[in-house]
Amino acid sequence: MSPRIAIIGAGFGGLCMAIQLERAGITTYTVFEKADRVGGTWRDNTYPGAGCDIPSHLYSFSFEKYASWSRRYPDQPEILAYMDYCTDKYGVRRKIRFGADVTHATFDHDQWRLTFHDGTTQHREEFDVLVAGVGQLNRPKFPDIPGMEEFGGVSFHSARWNHAHDLTGRRVAVIGNGSSAAQFVPPVAERAAHLDVFQRTPNWVIPKPDAAFGPLTRLALHFVPGLQRAYREWIYRYAEGTLYPALARGWSEGLLKKRALDHLKAQVADPDLRARLTPGYPPGCKRVVIDSRFYPALTRENVDVVTDPIVRVTAKGVETAEGLREADTIIYGTGFRSTEFLAPIAITGRAGTRLDEQWERGAEAYLGISAPNFPNLFLLYGPNTNLGHNSIIFMLECQVNHVMNCLPYLSTRGPMEVSPEAMAAWTRQLDRAMARMVWGNGCRSWYKTAEGRVTNNWPGPTTLYRRLTALPPLPAYRFGQRSS
Ligand code: NAP
Repeated sequence: MSPRIAIIGAGFGGLCMAIQLERAGITTYTVFEKADRVGGTWRDNTYPGAGCDIPSHLYSFSFEKYASWSRRYPDQPEILAYMDYCTDKYGVRRKIRFGADVTHATFDHDQWRLTFHDGTTQHREEFDVLVAGVGQLNRPKFPDIPGMEEFGGVSFHSARWNHAHDLTGRRVAVIGNGSSAAQFVPPVAERAAHLDVFQRTPNWVIPKPDAAFGPLTRLALHFVPGLQRAYREWIYRYAEGTLYPALARGWSEGLLKKRALDHLKAQVADPDLRARLTPGYPPGCKRVVIDSRFYPALTRENVDVVTDPIVRVTAKGVETAEGLREADTIIYGTGFRSTEFLAPIAITGRAGTRLDEQWERGAEAYLGISAPNFPNLFLLYGPNTNLGHNSIIFMLECQVNHVMNCLPYLSTRGPMEVSPEAMAAWTRQLDRAMARMVWGNGCRSWYKTAEGRVTNNWPGPTTLYRRLTALPPLPAYRFGQRSS
């Protein structure tokens, strides 16, 4: 009998899991999605200019080639359309329960008991397997600046864009200058009367060679056998062959830095502004911004890059050490609570172990998928599986492949759980690999905890991750541990 599988989240991870189950003929699953449509981060991030800086043909499932990509880099509506297309094509939509917010998941008597909050009522259901596909960047992070609640204008986070608030002619303050801000600052600058971009730390920025596909290219990609696959493979190998070594072996101070500095020089003529936009840490330590429109927007007459430290927010705007910068709108491009994996769901495993307590010093999981004391729980885009150089969809497919390899054992051998020995060996290997990476020192980033442990990123080549997740799962797992 097929196990009953609960999947939390209908973003790329949850959808990939559901699709592969359907393709394998396993229909004993339900996807629980707290919102009212699929898409995950691509449903939430609707800010103007939202898009992906990974090319369309790589930022998509390897098994679902898509003829409709209109440009090299997809924008948010196009990605969401692709996700809807896949949901329908593979018959997954009928298995998604929308508006179902999982608040608790408890492993008890070899079952995962889920508690849901559906609007006003709470109820429980039981499953053999729990797959969490909630992502790393799903909960907006607001800064802790004194006086924020006193602001008299309109304020919102980039991942919860207030589309009802017309920015035409406004005095806007943007706090943050990461990948999200880099995308929404240019369109906001075009509409606002004045825009202050508050930059705490400059980012390395490299160009995004975006372009619409011409009709001939689109036809060729659609009809020439193997062309789309070859194009995808080329983009993948390019990212793996050039960007990964830059992050891994200290090479980022070479070619990557030169590329970013050339880009800055080409786009920003004012030497003072250029100096303020030049980071003092190695490229790649924080996520490199890939964008060609950000710098030109910062050089506009109506835009100021403010680097004086923010002191407080007042009713009238944002006050820095140099004085008040008046604003009627504040947009927080301040990122996500990325290291609090799976929060706010309360997950309790074997013998009452709480996942948030087990991860008090930083989240960790074997392959980023399985945690000791949590049988039959599989994480997608879990700890140490984010990338700074390639497509996260590739990683999700590897993780789903691993879960599919585990499923046959469950019906014959009972609940499976990664062994403490396998977990310890995994952590040792990860730590060794992490020491080579550029993320550890010299910058603050969403890749690591406040204590400096990198909990989000995968430190190896993605080819290695694919190999490791494709190995037979058995040696790392043990079976039949008592649930309480
Ligand atoms: P982010 O990279 O975490 O950037 C947050 C920004 O807010 C930083 O500039 C940070 O400054 C600033 N900030 C935070 N707290 C602050 C405070 N108290 N005072 C002043 N500034 C403060 O967030 P994000 O831009 O939303 O991007 C998050 C990730 O989402 C990206 O790295 C990327 O992986 C993903 N993303 C991807 C795409 C894509 O095209 N693939 C597009 C958008 C986002 P500090 O640097 O000083 O901390």
